[in-house]
Order: sequence, then structure tokens, then C-alpha cells
Amino acid sequence: MYGVFSGPVGGFAPREHLCVGCLRCTTQYPEFVRILPNPARSSLGDSYFTPDRVDTVCYEARSGKVPVKGAGYRGPFGGSGWDGLWTDMSEIVRPTRDGIHGREFISTVIDIGAKPWRVTIADEQPSRRPPQLLSIPIPVLFDAPPAALLTDTVVRTLATAAEATETLVVLPVESLGKSAPRGRHIVPLITGAHLAALQQLGFEPAMLELAGWDQQLFAQVQAQFPRSIVCLRMDLPSTDALLRAWASGVRVFHLLANYHGRGSDGRFAIDLFREAHKALVAERCRDEGTILGGGGIIAAEHVPKAIICGCDGVSLDTPLLVALQAQFAGEAVRRETSSFKLPSRFTVDWGVMRITNLMASWRDQLLEVMGAMGLREVRRMRGEMGRAMFQTDLEREAFSEIAGYVS
Ligand code: SF4
Repeated sequence: MYGVFSGPVGGFAPREHLCVGCLRCTTQYPEFVRILPNPARSSLGDSYFTPDRVDTVCYEARSGKVPVKGAGYRGPFGGSGWDGLWTDMSEIVRPTRDGIHGREFISTVIDIGAKPWRVTIADEQPSRRPPQLLSIPIPVLFDAPPAALLTDTVVRTLATAAEATETLVVLPVESLGKSAPRGRHIVPLITGAHLAALQQLGFEPAMLELAGWDQQLFAQVQAQFPRSIVCLRMDLPSTDALLRAWASGVRVFHLLANYHGRGSDGRFAIDLFREAHKALVAERCRDEGTILGGGGIIAAEHVPKAIICGCDGVSLDTPLLVALQAQFAGEAVRRETSSFKLPSRFTVDWGVMRITNLMASWRDQLLEVMGAMGLREVRRMRGEMGRAMFQTDLEREAFSEIAGYVS
């Protein structure tokens, strides 16, 4: 029906470019037809961002739609990393299903900033400066790409896409030259070495991000931008450093694993996000701050999973590059050293459309997950471990008494 076998000599010279992979022919004529992926496909991505994942992100960026694998899915239903965490979808109920089709509202808004429990009044004035808080309509923001990719086109593409989707984009302050885009959706990433560039910023960002902890720099940035949120970027694992920074007044954290979702100690993001979240819960201050998680989030379902593990929102890195059809030059693990090759010529409009489509698709998939979990607000999903199931736990419960079971 797709015209693959409708050429002059039928199945002897199939027109492969027309195949959509529905597999009907292999079911109907198994002795005659086999459908195999193009061998070039296996060279896409790397060992973490597998060809299947690249294919999915490219489809989402092209169409803006939710990819449907449905009954034809032949892969495993568990695995390592994010695949070892399943969401409990036993709450598929009418009101939240209606939310997916627009008849009810499911909120995907998150708040970023300090959220103190109370205001202390002294001499008829609040004793501290009012907390800064900003809301974005999707729990996703864009992280800075590797420095080698920060061309004018890439910067403008990411900035325009962030503005179009009403989210934020983190960009090194030194990449925000005179002709660079301006606006509250741009989050300058600051190191002490680039303070001069910060002085010449020319706009008041909604949020600024410190590349690492520096008490003096923190105070300096707060003084220069008293109405902006100051976020601290930290590599995972970071519990001790996070608590120290909290004590010094930081309330927004951007915690990062590497591109494969691993912290410097080799543990996966699931454990590391949970650890950071639980550390603030133990200090009884979790609700007063914000945790943004990043690294290894390469599929739509990773967003709700990271939020369940304790993040308020997530940042995207490699999926944005894949949406822009970047090719991987070897294994992309570390942010500082990974290299990618973007198409030699692309327009800002094209890139913005691709990233906007990706966000539309991921938001729809977030609604699907929330609807199935019976949640009508993404803020209530944060740290909701009661809705998470771990494959290893379930297997242990089910099989541990059977001889030969190995955990
Ligand atoms: S899988 Fe077979 S039937 Fe389906 S589009 Fe491709 S060639 Fe046609």
C-alpha cells in the first residue's frame, strides 16, 4: 500500500525509500520478504544515545508528534539506567485522561527559585530581600552545548527556541556578545574569569548560573542583579557541597551528570538525583529550593522519571543537538571533551522549528505519563517515589524464592 513493490518489476527492485516499516509484508510473505534497518543507521549516536533513541528524537523533532510503537514493539521492557525505573500507571482515570485530550487541564508549570515558608518582619519590613521566583510552562530548560559548537547560529537558534517555548537557555556569558540575543529567557553561565562580560551584559536576566561555588562571586552577582535568581551549577554527586552552598544562601541548584547520566563516582543519575533530593528533605528544607537535573536525559520518558527522583525540572543537552541533526564523533560522555558535527549550513528558523517540535512532543508524552499516573500537576510529581517501581525490586519480590535466582 506504500508503493514499495509497485515499481516496474515489483519485488525484484523494491523502492526502499517508500517503506515505512509497518512489517505487513513480512507477516504476509515471510518466505519472500525481510525488512532490515539501513546498515548506516547503526552508526548513529553512541553507546548511550543509541540509534533507536536518535531515530526517535529525529522523528519527534521532524513531526512534533508522539512516536507510537504500540503492539509492534519487539524490544525489552526493562534494563539498566532509566529503563530500570518504571512508572506506576495503575491510576488511569477519567479526569486525567481527559487532560490529554484538552478537556481537562493538566499543569506542567514549574516554579524556579527560593520558596521560603514564611516572611520574617522586623521593624515593619521583611528582614530579607523578597524571594525571586519564576515559572516556566514546561519542566524542561536548555543547557549550553559544548564550547566548540557555540557559533552565532547555534546561540541564536537555542535562544529563539527557548523564547518560543517560554523556557530558559543556559549560555556561557562570554558567548553573549554584542550581536547575541537578549532577553529574560537567557541564563548567563558565569565563571570568575568572565566577570567583565557580565558587566557588559546589557539586560537583566531572570536567572544567572554560577559555573561553580564561589562565595565572593555569588555575593557580587546578587548585588549586581538583585532581582534575578542565582543558580549554582554542580557536578554530581554533590550532596555535601550542596548542603554547604545551601547554608550560604543558594536556593537553586543545577545538578549535572555526564552525557551518559553518570556522576563522577560512576553511579547513575537516578540514585544521584534521589540522594540530593533526600539530603534536602532530611534537612527539612526541600520545599524552599529548586533542583534542576541534567545529563543523560535523552528521551521523553526520562523527564518524568527524573522528576519522580526529586528534580523540579530537567535540562536538555544532547537531545537538542540530535534534534539539529548533529553527528556524534565517537563516544560523547564528558561535556568538556565531547565533539559533535552539526550540519554545515542550517537556518535559525529550521533549528527553532525542530526544537519546538521536540518540546511539543515531549510535553505531550509528559501529559500521557501524568494522565496514566492520575497526576494533574507536575509539581506534585517531584519526589513521588510511591509511583516509581524498580525492576530489580520487583524481580526480587517475584523470583527470590525460586532456586537459581540471581539479583
Ligand atoms: S514493511 Fe513491507 S509492507 Fe510495510 S511499508 Fe515496508 S515494504 Fe511495505
